[in-house]
Amino acid sequence: MERICCSFDTRGKLSRGAHHGDVHVLLGEDERRFAHLLARRLEEAGFAASLAFTGTQGLERANHGDLDLAVVDVMLPEMDGVTLTRTLRDQGSQLPILMLTARDAVDDRVRGLQAGADDYLVKPFAFAELLARIDALTRRTGRSARLAFGPMEMDVPAHRVTVGGRPVDLTPKEFELLECLLRSAGRVLTRSEIKEYVWGFTFDAPTKVVDLYVHYLRRKLADAGASDVIETIRGVGYAIGR
Ligand code: CA
Repeated sequence: MERICCSFDTRGKLSRGAHHGDVHVLLGEDERRFAHLLARRLEEAGFAASLAFTGTQGLERANHGDLDLAVVDVMLPEMDGVTLTRTLRDQGSQLPILMLTARDAVDDRVRGLQAGADDYLVKPFAFAELLARIDALTRRTGRSARLAFGPMEMDVPAHRVTVGGRPVDLTPKEFELLECLLRSAGRVLTRSEIKEYVWGFTFDAPTKVVDLYVHYLRRKLADAGASDVIETIRGVGYAIGR
């Protein structure tokens, strides 16, 4: 199943094919502002997102059965993330579960994995990291993660980019920058959004780092035959296929 595919139609306009929209993610997180921010980012990346602010809500929501993946914080009121995971596994649920844990909470990670979580991510994390874990987990459940635009193709789990079938050698940050732009194709991303996506929610550096990496990325893409792909929107940010 294709999760996302953007390509040009015959008039050269951007058209979207099958989207992440068929991938429904449950977010179990009681820090509401953070939960809403993550949900918005996931929706912008083309996923459907549902929120649960307590473990009990998460369990109820998971029992509806129309979810593809759950991202669950360990520290949840009423029922913590580990208990939620164990309860779901005891009920026979095979829902892929990604656990969010605090940096020093090694015990939580071990308990989470023992309870049946498939993977964990340590807070704070960059949004690109979360998407990479989601992609890896949904790939295991038989979905692919390919992004395409014009002659450019990105195989996300394989970390491979090609232009006209020829591989382009990108550093991890350049790859994440391109991934971020491709996932939001057709929409302008601000420098702050890009910075947050690639460098993390707490990264405290000037947004100039974004301009620098866009410069690197453009040069590599142009060398590979895909020039003028990334558009600069003066005073705002960058876009692909706007
Ligand atoms: Ca929490």
